[in-house]
Amino acid sequence: MLLETMQERVELEAVVEEFEWLTKDVGRVQRETLQKILEQNGATEYLSQWGLNGRTDPDTYKACVPVVTHADIEPFIRRIADAGILHNSSIITAKPITAMSLSSGTTEGKPKYLPFNEDLVENTTQVYKTSFAFRNREYPIGNGKALQFIYSSKQFTTKGGLRAGTATTHLFNSVDFKQTLRATQRPCCSPDEVIFGGNYHHSLYCHLLCGLIFRHQIQLISSTFAHSIVHAFRTFEQIWHHLVADIRRGSLSSRITSAPIRSAMAKLLMPDPDLADAIHQKCLSLSNWYGLIPALFPNVKYVYGIMTGSMEPYIKKLRHYAAEIPLVSADYGASEGWIGVNVNPKSPPEEATFAVLPNIGYFEFIPLDSGSGEAVGLTEVEIGKEYEVVTTSFAGLYRYKLGDVVRVAGFRKGTPELRFVCRRNVVLSINLDKNTERDLQASVEAAAKVAAADKVEVVDYTSCVEASTEPARYVVFWEMSGGASDEVVEECCNCLDRSFEDPGYVSMRRIHGIGALELRILKRGTFQKVMDHFVGMGGAVSQFKTPRCVGPANGKLMQILAANVVKTCFSTAY
Ligand code: AMP
Repeated sequence: MLLETMQERVELEAVVEEFEWLTKDVGRVQRETLQKILEQNGATEYLSQWGLNGRTDPDTYKACVPVVTHADIEPFIRRIADAGILHNSSIITAKPITAMSLSSGTTEGKPKYLPFNEDLVENTTQVYKTSFAFRNREYPIGNGKALQFIYSSKQFTTKGGLRAGTATTHLFNSVDFKQTLRATQRPCCSPDEVIFGGNYHHSLYCHLLCGLIFRHQIQLISSTFAHSIVHAFRTFEQIWHHLVADIRRGSLSSRITSAPIRSAMAKLLMPDPDLADAIHQKCLSLSNWYGLIPALFPNVKYVYGIMTGSMEPYIKKLRHYAAEIPLVSADYGASEGWIGVNVNPKSPPEEATFAVLPNIGYFEFIPLDSGSGEAVGLTEVEIGKEYEVVTTSFAGLYRYKLGDVVRVAGFRKGTPELRFVCRRNVVLSINLDKNTERDLQASVEAAAKVAAADKVEVVDYTSCVEASTEPARYVVFWEMSGGASDEVVEECCNCLDRSFEDPGYVSMRRIHGIGALELRILKRGTFQKVMDHFVGMGGAVSQFKTPRCVGPANGKLMQILAANVVKTCFSTAY
């Protein structure tokens, strides 16, 4: 049965109407939002140092309060973490900060602390509802379940006793938010013990097993980031026969040792040879696992997760698994707060845009092409131009540079629709050259085609600048799905080098001011180790983004990569 009860339909239409209303006069909504944030928090220690003296208009705000980065506010955040919930109000927000979120911080290698409070739960609710209302218009889901590759991070407490974990983990722990999830999604097919299991290998195994047990009921497959979905099905390719054996026997493999997971799964498992046979047949009938998703989950309506930015490299593999099932790219947010919603769920993930919700924060944009660096407001951005996002949130961030670059793709009523371009600080740069995450992605895609001709895929990649020898050079690390011949690796390496088209790079390469690009091939499973390391630092698998460039400060990651190189090759393209 489709989700068509009268009440649900009316509720979803009301959400769409609210969105239409909010985006009619965006300038006004932004002014009111800023006013609300400053009225609430103007007397805090952080804001009172800037001499706003009760004024809440955008001009005064911009004139008085500086644009900052995480490093600038770190001392305040540390104090909040040390003070704990009872003693932290009035440092950056009037109301207390209730938890600390850990951002993925994959570039610098260290997760960062960010303030979390109930307002972020409310914002998330609005974003989820809006995005679901638009999505459900295009792809109505029926009653059933969702196969969600979600994992909670390890939680710990700060010195002052604040809970610290990923923003997603705080959300899953919120009673209000759980209610939203019930209203906007189908229940996750896995029990809470699997989500909160702690060991993600065990959780992933059981997510897949639950998905198979409920295979006819699964309406959608999702995860925060596309990487987790691809990772899950790559794992499925390796372990499917174990899953089938568990279903046949009606008991969980002894490899899963967690007691709470075992007892939760025992309630779901019973010997089912027919189901085991059906899955076995399906798996054998697939060619190179193409169409795995519809074959196993015949009622799935779409696959949902963030597929933009550093997730784009996984779209191809996801399409392969999904075949004709639509891929819908999810919304744009960060541990710092939400920015925009995908209100065009039918657009292909490569073209996904995010309509900014003007009441969830105050947004400014620093144009990348102008020397002044002067931030402009949400209604002043221009179509086609690129900007760095600056956000002011209800959770104590004021004129905070997110570190993301976006392009304005158009306007939805009065609010800009942003396309995510890349992380601002992830660039390969030695001299005159400047390559962004996106430039690196384009080069890898070009070179991966060479490998594909030899039937080998690039599973994942990262890069660094090697400056210990003169001249410095770019190093690209690849994990491949199989062994490639030396000739193919050489060809890929040359193609990578040639595909960096930035004039600064090309000219410096020609005069050998930048050394020959080096391609290092990694052992299978290296990026799994990278993820294990990230998770070990308190990150959640569902938040993991492979760092596309490894900075010098990220010594541990460099060590992992260095220890797993199986082949290396220097470009002869110049
Ligand atoms: P985290 O703080 O670990 O949750 O990471 C937030 C960062 O993830 C953002 O600043 C973006 O760089 C990236 N991100 C979040 N949502 C999207 C999206 N829809 N598309 C591309 N990148 C995203």
